Amino acid sequence: NKGDISPGEIPECPVCLQTCIHPVKLPCSHIFCFLCVKGAANQSSRCALCRQGIPVEFFTNPTLVSKKDVCGKGLDLDAETEHYSWFYEGRNGWWQYDERTNVELEENYNAKKRTFELLVAGYMYVIDLDNMVQMRRNDPSRRRRIKRDLVSAPKKGIAGLKIAARPE
Ligand SMILES: [Zn+2]
Ligand SMILES: [Zn+2]
Repeated sequence: NKGDISPGEIPECPVCLQTCIHPVKLPCSHIFCFLCVKGAANQSSRCALCRQGIPVEFFTNPTLVSKKDVCGKGLDLDAETEHYSWFYEGRNGWWQYDERTNVELEENYNAKKRTFELLVAGYMYVIDLDNMVQMRRNDPSRRRRIKRDLVSAPKKGIAGLKIAARPE
């Protein structure tokens, strides 16, 4: 695939300073985690490095650096979380959490924590495993059901990235 990069070449994200998760390329060619761009866009829809505006459509149809990343092949990040993954409820289906959030959920779950907080796309969320919901800490009415299910369970995509979102 032209434009794909191997896992070893995934750049560091200038926002979270970690290896990019679901790296996306902005029109200005700067590369960030998809969720970091999304989180930063809650403050201003501009590139964190060069301040160039980010078009609204970018969030529904982002330019992925590697398509393999979202299809679940290629990257071996999935291997570490084994056969189970965490999902949150969407309008008519489930979204899989991004790998980093997934690892945090799994760690807290294994540590038998019932409630804890997570930072996702710039917002603090409270995770309640007794009721299996996530809610915004400062707006508890924004709540979604969550579940732990097989990675192969039907899903819309990962962290807001649609699985089949590619031009024909
Ligand atoms: Zn990032
Ligand atoms: Zn830029």
